[in-house]
Amino acid sequence: MKKGLYNTGALILDSFDYGESDRIITFYTSGFGKLKGIAKGARRSRRRFVGKLDILTEIKLIFFHNEKSDLARVEDAALVDPFSRVKSDVAGFSGGCCMAELVSEMTREGQASPQVYGLLRDFLKLLDSCAGAEAGALTRFFEIKLLALLGFMPHLTGCVVCKTDIREGAGIFFVPDKGGAVCRPCCAAAGAAPGFSMSAGTAMFLSSAARFDMGQLPRLKPGAACLKESEKILDGFIKHQLGRELKTKKFLAKMNAAANIESCIKSY
Ligand SMILES: [Zn+2]
Repeated sequence: MKKGLYNTGALILDSFDYGESDRIITFYTSGFGKLKGIAKGARRSRRRFVGKLDILTEIKLIFFHNEKSDLARVEDAALVDPFSRVKSDVAGFSGGCCMAELVSEMTREGQASPQVYGLLRDFLKLLDSCAGAEAGALTRFFEIKLLALLGFMPHLTGCVVCKTDIREGAGIFFVPDKGGAVCRPCCAAAGAAPGFSMSAGTAMFLSSAARFDMGQLPRLKPGAACLKESEKILDGFIKHQLGRELKTKKFLAKMNAAANIESCIKSY
């Protein structure tokens, strides 16, 4: 990427205050991939940047890139879509933050993918247009589609070891470090920790979700058990790929634990 001034659409993946008045953002662009930038004086010149550099916002961004600096200089921003409903709903906001963090963690700086940009924007729009109850399913759809797009699709149609097809009731496991499904006899033969148990229905749901385009997704109607199993499998697989858990997931686990303690105290 050459030194110069750039004008591009961008999705804000992360945003935090820096020093007395600046703000540092991580953003994803269609043409240049993921980048980091600094908006000098962003908190002083409120009219110029207010609401435009918040996480989960789509903007038209003008920035200056200099090869000598890791941070682009944010010159100006115009709001395209603030995804206001996503931000006003806990489930929606949590889902959106998971999506943004996954893009941020699974992509390298400056590596462009218009498909990743389109996928994130389409899912944020979808999340913004529907009720929070759909947020869990949409987040699972997004996770498996992003993994497939980036070349990390787990193997789900048969056992990765003996290649037998997955059959309902046969007892299969999802083993992250094997990259997908492993049947019970192969797990036993390897003496391996069985990973996560996975039904044939969940395996079918995840492979269909990765393959289907946005228009076809409403045809998939996963039940609560399938979504719960999918979440465990995808969390385990993503953690294995990254070598750590996503910050958003950690935060949500803590929040759920706190909510449980509160509900336990209330029901006591
Ligand atoms: Zn096997």
